[in-house]
Amino acid sequence: MIPLSAEAFSDAETAFVTRLTPNRSDDPRDSFLLSSSASDSAWCGDHGVFSIGLTSADICGDVLLVDPKARRAERLIRRSPAQNSLLITEQCDQLCIMCSQPPKKTHWDRFAHFEQACRLAEPATTIGITGGEPTLHLPPLLAMMDKVLEARPDLFFHVLTNGQHFTGAACEQIPERVRRATVWGIPLYADRSELHDRIVGKFGAFERLLESMVHLLVHGARIELRTVLMQDNLSSLPVLARFISTNLPHIEQWSIMGLENIGFARSRWHALYADIRRDFSPVGQAIDHATLFGTRARLFNMPLCHLPPSYRPFAVASISDWKQRFSPSCFACSARSTCSGFFEWHPDHLVEEVVPL
Ligand code: SF4
Repeated sequence: MIPLSAEAFSDAETAFVTRLTPNRSDDPRDSFLLSSSASDSAWCGDHGVFSIGLTSADICGDVLLVDPKARRAERLIRRSPAQNSLLITEQCDQLCIMCSQPPKKTHWDRFAHFEQACRLAEPATTIGITGGEPTLHLPPLLAMMDKVLEARPDLFFHVLTNGQHFTGAACEQIPERVRRATVWGIPLYADRSELHDRIVGKFGAFERLLESMVHLLVHGARIELRTVLMQDNLSSLPVLARFISTNLPHIEQWSIMGLENIGFARSRWHALYADIRRDFSPVGQAIDHATLFGTRARLFNMPLCHLPPSYRPFAVASISDWKQRFSPSCFACSARSTCSGFFEWHPDHLVEEVVPL
């Protein structure tokens, strides 16, 4: 697995954001390479000399948050690939049964550092905003995004949100350039409140989500719906497809997603995991219906060999490189370059059961 943070040593008094460059540059936000060994590298910039427990080949070009007190450096924006996510908060007001990042009570406001990091991103990058629930801190989040887009109109944002906090007044506060450059990724697990609310662990969440969606769509927001597949909602997926194409035809995309074996899902794996190799028909029916009615449906986090051939074009190689895993057998597969593979933490026996194409 590719590390997203590493041990760091710096004499700076406070945490700072910097971009790592191979040579000295004119930009005071950059730090240039002094030396690199097989295990770490040393850099120099306006914040002095500092070292990172990763080689220059691994991190040159990255934008780091270096925290001298914690002796850690976080790779906030990596040089590649295009997917980069900023963890805004670990607080959340839902308690989803399969949550991959179980909520914490404390919040550390890092918006100033995130803004500096985004300004240093590669051109035309899409920056992911995740949590926890980022919109628990909606005013500073919108302010940060607006400042970034003012300085860097070439960037885009994708915000993962539970969609519980968009009122008409809140949507009025979304700046025009944020509205244009942002896709809101919102989970919807069922077509009815009883099942959706049970999955997200919050009574009334379904109704509030639909209200939020109306406000967002009225204000021209771009929405991607996300549905994680579980035993709980697999059989009702075709009904959910009908609900979406009837009631939410203006969304940009419906992403049907494989379950991650991490967080709460790890201890509940056998009760939650739906093996689509055994019964793909609800997924197939849902995609057929969505496609027929003009809703763009896509399959995320699902290896191509788990899908019937006619549904493979709907699959997206969606798993980020730092947490992506393949079986040794995958190296003989003709589809490897376009396959999502598995999450690093996927159960071994399922990874080993691949069927190279
Ligand atoms: S064999 Fe491996 S690379 Fe090929 S489709 Fe299956 S998981 Fe993907």
